[in-house]
Amino acid sequence: MKTRILVANRGEIAIRLIRAIQELGYEAIAVYETPDEMSSHIRIADEAVCLGPGPRSDYLNIDKIIRAAKKSGAAAIHPGYGFLAENPYFAKACEASGVIFIGPSSEIISNLGNKVIARKIMGDAKIPMVPGTANLSQGKEGIREALGFAEKYGYPVMLKATSGGGGRGIRRIESDKDMVEQIPVARAEALAAFNDDSVYLEKVVVNPKHVEVQILADSFGKTLHLGTRDCSIQRRNQKLVEIAPSMIQNKELLDNICETAVLAAKAANYLNAGTVEFLIDSDMNYYFMEINTRVQVEHTVTEMITGIDIVRNQINIAFGKPLSFGQEDVNIRGHAIEVRINAEDPKNNFMPEGGKKVSVYRSTGGFGVRLDGFVYQGYIIPEVYDSLLVKLTVHGFTWEETVGRLRRCLANFTISGPKTTIPFYQNIANERDFVNGDFDTSYIDTHPYIFHYEEDSSEASKLARFVAEIHYAKENPFAK
Ligand code: ADP
Ligand code: ADP
Ligand code: MG
Repeated sequence: MKTRILVANRGEIAIRLIRAIQELGYEAIAVYETPDEMSSHIRIADEAVCLGPGPRSDYLNIDKIIRAAKKSGAAAIHPGYGFLAENPYFAKACEASGVIFIGPSSEIISNLGNKVIARKIMGDAKIPMVPGTANLSQGKEGIREALGFAEKYGYPVMLKATSGGGGRGIRRIESDKDMVEQIPVARAEALAAFNDDSVYLEKVVVNPKHVEVQILADSFGKTLHLGTRDCSIQRRNQKLVEIAPSMIQNKELLDNICETAVLAAKAANYLNAGTVEFLIDSDMNYYFMEINTRVQVEHTVTEMITGIDIVRNQINIAFGKPLSFGQEDVNIRGHAIEVRINAEDPKNNFMPEGGKKVSVYRSTGGFGVRLDGFVYQGYIIPEVYDSLLVKLTVHGFTWEETVGRLRRCLANFTISGPKTTIPFYQNIANERDFVNGDFDTSYIDTHPYIFHYEEDSSEASKLARFVAEIHYAKENPFAK
């Protein structure tokens, strides 16, 4: 029987993983909750197991997923990102039941998933970091510690959930009064979201660039980096547009950051693919922020500029194989940009557009274009999951060519039914600072006019939509 790998995820990343598994000659086992039964990841997998009605709870159910793996004879589980990907109990349960977890060990996940422990490991290894506290004590004592830190470093400070992730659990604190009020609120939220009410403080890096380094580490002691990505274009600390490599015109600085990332990974005994995130201030000082112990949403930009399949390497590393190339084989070619096309209305606070039917889906294509998506014409977007529909990644030889390609692709990408972030990205792709490669994490707030666009309401577009809907109805007579 062929080696089988279970994919414990949904949406575009499930498809991305299934592709790598099948290209390696293995079989992919999909799992799904019933709200996802029309998802295309189920169709392309070699077998699919229904976990239950969910929503979300079954994708997060460690026992059910391990049982599905055992029953289908899977040798390994790939967790993707989100869901169980950074849950050390899941990695541990895999280890205990003899199924290979495609990622680092539960111990590494648990250390690095805790921002305070991760900072301790990095501090011991002399990795540069912004000043910060340990976990704040409970009650009045913690407030005293916090006010002391703010007095020493000055406002604003960042109040962060120690177990936070996905851009959540981060608050900027501007005053003593704010601090006293926000600590209990932050604790309660952290407890509800991450099952851990620990919080700590970091000095704020004002309008930083977010630069991260992709790492691959095998079990034979080889740790490589695949260069930098810039993910500064964020909203509420969540990434929207990612590019590779960083546009900072200082090769020595970027080389130093990459070397520091390798040292950070080694300090954590890192294994498999991971990302070391840094903040860079306006004086070009860089500071370690965290290590993500999983494949990132934006791994595609790195794959485009290096030609290295990160997911394929994750699987090989987990199966105990050595990395088949060295640092000298990692060559950066050109530039890549990824935009996360979400079913959201940017003008309405990025309100999710779930529940709507994709009445027209006409994707773009051509030279240097990559799509990682899972929706199709006629697909009804479940309301209960996140709103990422498709990632558009473009690659070009020069930055200018890459931006031109992004513009062209966004202009001939049509998704009707839900509102999407496409017109918003079109504005970014035409905005001067973006075109000059000059942006930091304040970009969205400092460029409010990127929200000014007309929904496509031209007669031609209405007609195209109408014709496409008739076609669809003819081909799918039983669809709603
Ligand atoms: P998460 O685990 O949620 O990804 P991170 O620690 O990676 O959290 O931070 C996410 C984002 O929040 C960063 O990319 C940055 O924009 C902002 N951020 C976090 N810490 C700081 C800080 N000390 N100063 C300025 N911005 C920060
Ligand atoms: P990346 O760093 O790969 O770009 P994001 O930070 O956007 O990814 O997170 C990827 C996905 O994982 C998102 O759907 C996010 O909501 C989810 N996620 C990340 N960390 C956590 C966490 N600790 N708890 C819950 N969801 C998380
Ligand atoms: Mg992060």
